Amino acid sequence: MNSKLQHDLDNFENILEKTKQQGIDFLSNIDNIPTSNTYSINPKTELNELGLGSIEALKEFNERLAPLMVSSSGPRYWGFVTGGSTPASIVGDWLASVYDQNTQSVTSQGGNSALIEFETINLLLQLLELPDTFLGGFVTGATMSNFTSLAVARQWFGKQYGKDFAKNGISETINILTATPHSSSIKSLSMLGVGSQNYTVIKTIEGNREALDITDLEEKIKALNGKPFILISSAGTVNTADFDDFEAIAKLREKYNFWWHIDGAFGGFVAVSEKYKHYVKGWEGADSITIDCHKWLNVPYESAFYLVKKEHVNLQIETFQNSNAPYLGNPLENFNYLNVLPENSRRLRALPVWFSLKAYGKEGFRDLIEDSAALALHFANALIENDFELLAPIRLNNVCFTLKGEHNQEKVTPFLSALNDTGKVFMTPTVYQNKKGIRASFVNWRTNEEDIRIVIKEMKDLLDII
Ligand SMILES: *Cc1c(COP(=O)(O)O)cnc(C)c1O
Repeated sequence: MNSKLQHDLDNFENILEKTKQQGIDFLSNIDNIPTSNTYSINPKTELNELGLGSIEALKEFNERLAPLMVSSSGPRYWGFVTGGSTPASIVGDWLASVYDQNTQSVTSQGGNSALIEFETINLLLQLLELPDTFLGGFVTGATMSNFTSLAVARQWFGKQYGKDFAKNGISETINILTATPHSSSIKSLSMLGVGSQNYTVIKTIEGNREALDITDLEEKIKALNGKPFILISSAGTVNTADFDDFEAIAKLREKYNFWWHIDGAFGGFVAVSEKYKHYVKGWEGADSITIDCHKWLNVPYESAFYLVKKEHVNLQIETFQNSNAPYLGNPLENFNYLNVLPENSRRLRALPVWFSLKAYGKEGFRDLIEDSAALALHFANALIENDFELLAPIRLNNVCFTLKGEHNQEKVTPFLSALNDTGKVFMTPTVYQNKKGIRASFVNWRTNEEDIRIVIKEMKDLLDII
């Protein structure tokens, strides 16, 4: 063994102890760590011939690289839809590295850790009150979950014409209908060879809504003259957290032949709340669903899962089958994840979620979802009282707003960059209904009313000088 490796092996306990202490230092100070910084590095250092060993590498990391870290998992990082990491999720994440399983199989072909993934998916179905007619698996993020789901949808589409697109390529125009898709679904259409421009836009409901208009959807379906199509629907749009009407879509499924996909990356979690679960009523009728765990479930990146109806498992295998590992017998009995999703080798990605669900239970996540929504409302009210204007009603956890008055439109961008430069808060720019706006998304388990007070004060101070 190389001497540096040998030295590290002999010092493993000390190394892990130092790493743990570093984690404690960061996490216990996270409220004070800026949400942005201007620190930079020259990312071209020379690779040393002789290794440093872990302790020295940690020192160099702390000197040169650690200053790049911002508190993106802290309570005032409201940009994008950014969750944090709960204690239990970090336990699972650390242990996933410690055990370093290659999670593929449930039939002891070198380990059964996929059973933990099965169990975790089963717990998630219970959390979301979905039936076990779905088969699920973990991928890196909602982008890959949308990709996985839409890849199976593509295979389904081919089958409607007696074609096998996975084997022979796409030979028919694939009809996609959608109203307010997340950019990652469009990216998936590009990756899947469907084409990022090849979709039909459904009108949204009138009156400041992002949800699809059912009448317009049905008209566009009729225009297809009985041809099959794929519907990409939303459970939580990023600007205004709007939801398509799933009960109405389920009714259309009785009349028309389509694959129904739901992107519920963050919005799907409303299913745990009595107060908000009506938003997803009827969603169990979908063929595939996308959910992110590194958002509202507050587990570290990279964590998301897809759910695809079990009845489609053969389409899923045709799409993702690893040609070196042909299926033997019943696909559900000889199950191997490498045949149903994009990656072959995968870490035990379910573990942080398993720990989170066990540690906090249904109530923990119900409280988290409802607290986030209450904070969004609280922030929105404070905005209205302080010369800001909401661009959309607060349906859930996202607040889309702007500076009051048309004449202030040109100030929105400089205002937001000055605000983000304070390092006290981070929000994302957006354009909504042709207006420049700002978006704050509440999904972090640490955020509280004091954070809102801090942010509002920064915003007021900036308004005075901008
Ligand atoms: C965040 C998000 C995505 C993309 O998720 P990643 O985890 O960043 O890949 C897709 N859809 C919706 C609705 C999202 O909010």
